[in-house]
Amino acid sequence: MITAPASAAAARAAAATSAAVIGAGPAGLAVVARLLDTGAARITWIDPAFNGGRLARYPEVPSNTKVALFLQYAAVSPALTKAADAASTDPRATLAALEQGKGCALVHAQTLCADLASALATAFPDRVDVKRGWVSAVHAKPGAEFAVDVVDGVKDDFAPNGTVFATVAKGKSTTTTVHAARLFLCTGSEPTPTPAAPAPHTPFPQIQVLDLDTCLTPSALPAVLKPTDRVAVVGSSHSAVLVLKNLSEYFGAAAPAHVVNFSRHALKYAEYQPDGTIKYDNTGLKGVAADWARSVLEDTEVARKHGIERVTLPVGNEVSAYAAHLPGVTHIVYAIGYRARPLPPLVLDGKTVDAGKVSYDPASGALKVEGHGEVKGAHGFGIAFPERITDKWGNVEWSVGMWKFMRYIREVIA
Ligand SMILES: Cc1cc2nc3c(=O)[nH]c(=O)nc-3n(C[C@H](O)[C@H](O)[C@H](O)COP(=O)(O)OP(=O)(O)OC[C@H]3O[C@@H](n4cnc5c(N)ncnc54)[C@H](O)[C@@H]3O)c2cc1C
Repeated sequence: MITAPASAAAARAAAATSAAVIGAGPAGLAVVARLLDTGAARITWIDPAFNGGRLARYPEVPSNTKVALFLQYAAVSPALTKAADAASTDPRATLAALEQGKGCALVHAQTLCADLASALATAFPDRVDVKRGWVSAVHAKPGAEFAVDVVDGVKDDFAPNGTVFATVAKGKSTTTTVHAARLFLCTGSEPTPTPAAPAPHTPFPQIQVLDLDTCLTPSALPAVLKPTDRVAVVGSSHSAVLVLKNLSEYFGAAAPAHVVNFSRHALKYAEYQPDGTIKYDNTGLKGVAADWARSVLEDTEVARKHGIERVTLPVGNEVSAYAAHLPGVTHIVYAIGYRARPLPPLVLDGKTVDAGKVSYDPASGALKVEGHGEVKGAHGFGIAFPERITDKWGNVEWSVGMWKFMRYIREVIA
């Protein structure tokens, strides 16, 4: 066992061949699979739920990637393939039965990740140590050894600002320390809650802010909205378009419109090229969101018939547009991007590092601390630490998605 070592020497010996992976979303799963594929002797894998990460928040969201890519994610790793083949119920079966060239509800991607995590732990019991818990601190020690404090009995409710609600089992929790030579942070992102103060809705005390994840879940809307409500949606991204679609379908075609959409930019679509490449692969609308946006949002009159009023925010005078349209609005939802969740506090040479000083190399995932340089042996992957790519048209994008995490992780973890 890596945990609770009998002595400092035993801890060091165990740590020398080991890795600690924090997070069991698509990125954490890809890292564990890659570590197994490259011969890691011992991996401690930490997550409160092992339920597919944040995808569990989006069961009803239509994927923006094709089903085939989710299966490709699993197929490229020999460890994942071995684990899936050995599982009593094949984690890939549901996706394999779907149309491969189309998207699907994200519940299928989430179930794939959760079931593959379980299958990996079963197939590699001597090499994967699954630890349910929340990492409360990471101590980086000289000689590239990490001591990772794990609190058990903590549930991640994916609450805003990266907070977790501590639901401590049987009234008490315990903290254990995991020692490892390599550290992988795959801790995920969360919706950016509101723009920098003052938020557009601040002058309108009647307006309640709705949670973006709730608005991405059609079945959750009746619990938070009355048919007479009027909702403002800020943004024009993939998430914003899906929220507009959900709200339009919830309220139905109504006059005056129940939904007002504020956006700074025109809608941008992924452009599929004859050679198989995709322009705006990471930033353009795809799948259901793209089809719906093209047919409903591009024409003001068609949008209005779907109960949506579209407002382009004037550069330098957004306040006037909000002032004109927010009276009468009862709720607002901000779909203005995602940001990394707070990392576990990093203690370097005995001192807790200011969170703002932690960054990473977007070509390798290597963790860096301002004034210190690279933290040897530590990496970040997934949506919180995406690869930065420049496509053949010169567009610089953050490469995000299950398959892209897997491809990149396989490139950089040797
Ligand atoms: C609306 C939406 C739609 C998307 N659609 C697609 C799609 O169609 N196809 C696609 O490929 N990708 C899609 N993505 C992108 C991406 O695949 C997901 O965002 C994915 O969940 C990111 O994976 P991750 O592993 O980086 O982080 P997460 O899934 O967020 O996982 C992080 C995990 O780390 C755990 N964790 C965090 N901090 C700690 C800690 N201190 N201690 C222990 N555990 C911790 C969390 O509990 C969580 O389980 C979508 C994203 C969004 C937001």
